[in-house]
Amino acid sequence: MVMCLSLREVSHRFRIGFEAVRIAFIVSVTGLALELTFAILFHSMILLTDAVHWAVDGALEFTTMMTLYLVIKVLKRFSWGVLYLESVLALIISIAVLGTYMVPFVDYINSFIAEPGTSITTANPFLALASLVGGALTFYTFTELRKAYIRTRLEILKAEYVHAIIDTVASALVTIGIIVTSFTQSKSAELLTVIASLFFTFHSITNIAEDSIKSVLGLNIDVELKYKLMSVLSERFAENMRIRSVDVRKIGSFYIAKAELYVHPHVTISKLHKMRLAIIRACREVNEMIYHVDVMFYPDTKYGKGTNLVKGKSIKVT
Ligand SMILES: [Zn+2]
Repeated sequence: MVMCLSLREVSHRFRIGFEAVRIAFIVSVTGLALELTFAILFHSMILLTDAVHWAVDGALEFTTMMTLYLVIKVLKRFSWGVLYLESVLALIISIAVLGTYMVPFVDYINSFIAEPGTSITTANPFLALASLVGGALTFYTFTELRKAYIRTRLEILKAEYVHAIIDTVASALVTIGIIVTSFTQSKSAELLTVIASLFFTFHSITNIAEDSIKSVLGLNIDVELKYKLMSVLSERFAENMRIRSVDVRKIGSFYIAKAELYVHPHVTISKLHKMRLAIIRACREVNEMIYHVDVMFYPDTKYGKGTNLVKGKSIKVT
């Protein structure tokens, strides 16, 4: 079995991951600005489609970046609200971008069917330079993400770097598509490139939709692990506390746990501190993929009145 990492080390790894995904996000925003500018200036349908891909990937990287940011703070409470919000926001942005894109796309398909005589939209071979630069940027993202994955072994980064290498291939196909289209003046070559680029965009949108549907519907709850944690905690800490609730959710390849516990109202803060660290350690011994444990203590009302804690209020020891 793999040795359990210290919380400091876990936090450090997530920080490396966060920095790498932040680079990917900045690259996507740059790629989007570059290709959108040329797409609008030259009315190129191929570049416009590729720009939509950059926008959707940017939204996807934003959600990964935010998730890592929330996890870095291993000793602070995990903000589920922020996680839901950013994943739903990414989905809304992607759908809005795709919806806006559908207007010129439908026009383009209509002209393709109704007016076969109209010329191509990507007539300038130099536009290939824009997607070539985009491809080089994507390859750079791939190397950064892979480097971070090798250092941290975070599965979430593996998914990101695999995506980046697929997108490098996508950029190469788009570049070839632009060159072939402009030299042959073939509308079919252009349409084929547009559809190929859209295919890669849908791949990203599916990922975003899956993430947000899972988090909103609570499909990421792991019941089996939840009961395992409950039994371990109640076994080990039986004399000091009672379990109020335990919740475990999966994000990408790792877990976030939340344990709400009843403790004796007279227990000291320093003892709660120690208990909290022991509970986090116990959870991570059950499964080393649990990177974050929120521990909340509630005064146990069965001990009656005369307590030094406000009834029903939780305290969070950090
Ligand atoms: Zn992509």
